[in-house]
Amino acid sequence: MTINNFNSGPSILPGSVLEQAAAAIHSFNGTGLSILEIGHRTSHFVEVMEEARNTVRKLMDLPATHEVLFLHGGATTQFMQVPMNLLNQGDSAAYCINGIWGSKAAREAGFFGKVLPVTDTTDCQHTCIRQPGEIPAGTAYLHLTSNNTVEGTQWEHFPITNVPLVADMSSDIFSRPMNFGQFDLIYAGAQKNMGAAGVNLVVVNQELLARKKDSIPAIMDYRQHIAAGSLMNTPPVFAVYVSMLTMRWIVEQGGLYEMDRRSREKSDLLYSSIDQNPLFITKVAREDRSRMNAVFFLADPQLEPAFLELCRKEGMVGVKGYRTIGGIRVSMYNALPLSSVQAFCELMKYFAEKNG
Ligand SMILES: *Cc1c(COP(=O)(O)O)cnc(C)c1O
Repeated sequence: MTINNFNSGPSILPGSVLEQAAAAIHSFNGTGLSILEIGHRTSHFVEVMEEARNTVRKLMDLPATHEVLFLHGGATTQFMQVPMNLLNQGDSAAYCINGIWGSKAAREAGFFGKVLPVTDTTDCQHTCIRQPGEIPAGTAYLHLTSNNTVEGTQWEHFPITNVPLVADMSSDIFSRPMNFGQFDLIYAGAQKNMGAAGVNLVVVNQELLARKKDSIPAIMDYRQHIAAGSLMNTPPVFAVYVSMLTMRWIVEQGGLYEMDRRSREKSDLLYSSIDQNPLFITKVAREDRSRMNAVFFLADPQLEPAFLELCRKEGMVGVKGYRTIGGIRVSMYNALPLSSVQAFCELMKYFAEKNG
């Protein structure tokens, strides 16, 4: 049976990346040693790190002000590390509360300074994106989540603001071209759209880092990581390697324009199947629908277990909704082929014929 992997994270990776990663576990670059057995300061690994950082720079077309880092942890680590580096005690940071991840990020920032929730969609269960109003001058930064993985919404137009803009792009990184230079800080856990769990990509405008007055523990300090080229201590070598291979794959496939074209094709197909099928409904505002994570429900919730069981039997993996939301969530990250979405839509149709 064909397995179609709609997991929300960790999630599907290109087959060729898995093959290369598997080979490197046995012998890396013809060394006869595993990628897991060589020092992170050997030329072999330093080259991996350099290619990873350079590929980010190329894919994002970054201005010279911006530095690229690969750091330990998941996006949750950045919820703390961002305010630690950018928010002085007594100052305020503005947060867009458009979903569970954004509210978690805001809570962590509260340990370091004041948090201004400048837009909040809790009242509509985060089924839409709402732009913030004007941000008070002197605010340290404005934080948003570019794609709400759990609720299935995505920003199309980012706020124009006079304060530094920070984005958690964990679940739509490298899925579409954009002006990345408009952000002063971008972070993403790798395991959704760009690699293996355990590493974060951080892109930061260095000019911003000079503003921090309080001292920061070394492992949390972006400036020290920049000075050390992401090799201050042992990085998560395998996760960096898998991310590098995945980014190489993105470039080979045609870059961000091609990823965008594919994700439009996949998500248009899925959303039109939902819209046309009376058994399925989505509560997400049409203009804010995520191209990465489609969140929807059975119109009759009693049919949900039967649909999930059919999915299980037919090899549709990872389609159960987030634990606090329920329903169905279909994640369509870069590596997911169109054929998986086609097969899923066929199954929706079949289910409607049986139960309509
Ligand atoms: C998954 C996710 C996180 C949490 O990532 P961890 O790596 O598990 O800490 C944060 N933000 C967004 C947008 C996510 O999708």
